Amino acid sequence: MHYQPIVDLATSEVVGFEALMRWDHPERGWVPPDVFIPLAEQSDLIVDLGAFALREATTAASGWNRDDECFVTVNVSARQFSDPGLVDTIKTALGQSGLVPSRLVLEITESATLRNVGEAMRTIGHLRRRGIGIALDDYGTGYSSLSYLVNLQPTMLKIDKSFVDLKWAGVRDDLVLEAVVALADNLKVVTIAEGIETPEHLERMRQLGCQMGQGYLFSPAVPASEVPGQLRRNRPESVA
Ligand code: C2E
Ligand code: CA
Ligand code: CA
Repeated sequence: MHYQPIVDLATSEVVGFEALMRWDHPERGWVPPDVFIPLAEQSDLIVDLGAFALREATTAASGWNRDDECFVTVNVSARQFSDPGLVDTIKTALGQSGLVPSRLVLEITESATLRNVGEAMRTIGHLRRRGIGIALDDYGTGYSSLSYLVNLQPTMLKIDKSFVDLKWAGVRDDLVLEAVVALADNLKVVTIAEGIETPEHLERMRQLGCQMGQGYLFSPAVPASEVPGQLRRNRPESVA
């Protein structure tokens, strides 16, 4: 697992990390998840890979500095989300790592919950009562239903990079984005902008009132061993 910092856009402090899977293949080198996750999703292999991600990420995060509430987000695919064993897998990962549930956030996409909305709501409700966070991933790529955002009550909303990139975003996108961020704000849902690559992206997302962000401007995903270094950058003395 690699970890990409999530930054508070107001202070530039690292406040969390997204856990992203890579496959270290003996011949092909690092294989990106876009290549193997869709294949794993065609079978129950994704359930095992997902359990691995949860175990690794919770163990890693339990070793990060405990003074502040640095969280870890873990991607959960559609098939994994509808697996009845998911809640137990999460409980085991939290139990074995000792990570406080409030420091774990599960990233799910709208489409993962649309398969069976009633069941998805129950699972989300169950996880939220345990203190686990829910982030709605890739917002802006699917239906992006506003009523869904209200009903699902995620803790975080991840705005897809296609909305962040000015090359693709027009005036209408700005209006939509502004409305979404304002609605999320009113619902006390934290907004995270994905794919911040340039100072212009950062400035725009700040102006739109987005609270957090991640992207190559700050850092790509790094191996677990580099996380402490990223966190040290938060300390004022290292900035000085
Ligand atoms: P995602 O959840 O949308 O993750 C964000 C992707 O954007 C990551 O690609 C990340 O490295 C990349 N990224 C970060 N900053 C920037 C930026 O500034 N510009 C651009 N262009 N890209 C940026 P990655 O790691 O290749 O992951 C691809 C997808 O694979 C993820 O998309 C997620 O859907 C899936 N994935 C990754 N790890 C896992 C996992 O453990 N479980 C599951 N189910 N899916 C995973
Ligand atoms: Ca994600
Ligand atoms: Ca995403």
